[in-house]
Amino acid sequence: MSDLPEFKYSPNCYTNDEVFEKALPGESKTCQCCGEKTEYYRGMYARKNVKCICPRCFANGAAAQLFEAESIQNAEPIENGADRVDELIHRTPGFNCWQGEMWLAHCNDFCAYIGDVGTKELEERGIADEVFADYEERDEFDVEDVRNYLECKGSMAGYLFRCLHCGKYRLYVDAD
Ligand SMILES: [Zn+2]
Ligand SMILES: [Zn+2]
Repeated sequence: MSDLPEFKYSPNCYTNDEVFEKALPGESKTCQCCGEKTEYYRGMYARKNVKCICPRCFANGAAAQLFEAESIQNAEPIENGADRVDELIHRTPGFNCWQGEMWLAHCNDFCAYIGDVGTKELEERGIADEVFADYEERDEFDVEDVRNYLECKGSMAGYLFRCLHCGKYRLYVDAD
């Protein structure tokens, strides 16, 4: 795996199957951008149907350029962040969620996407109180409901982010 590119905003992309899909044993996947065979792949948002892009063509921006594609649907705003926005939407793979990605930000930069979580996983990590307190400040779902029903890959699903600068955990919640 050492020759695969790493992504600042998606450090767990090869172990989380909601980011890169992995070709099944015996299955052959070809990147629509470079034409090379690839074990890991993911699609992008483009006018053309772009379903199979290899990690390298995400990382170097080739697929975004070739297909005029973006990999992320939405992100929280940051200030004076054109370079960071470019890295996020053109050179970072998205992740599967119900209504499309909402990439969280903190310390005026995008957070790293850690993975999908429910209340159980947050409690196991010992960060449930911290994460729900932060979540409550945003005007989205009722925090009590979220705490009761949030389930990893469930119909109310959680997506955990961590600030690259101060280490704060933040939660995005999406429902079917
Ligand atoms: Zn490629
Ligand atoms: Zn921060």
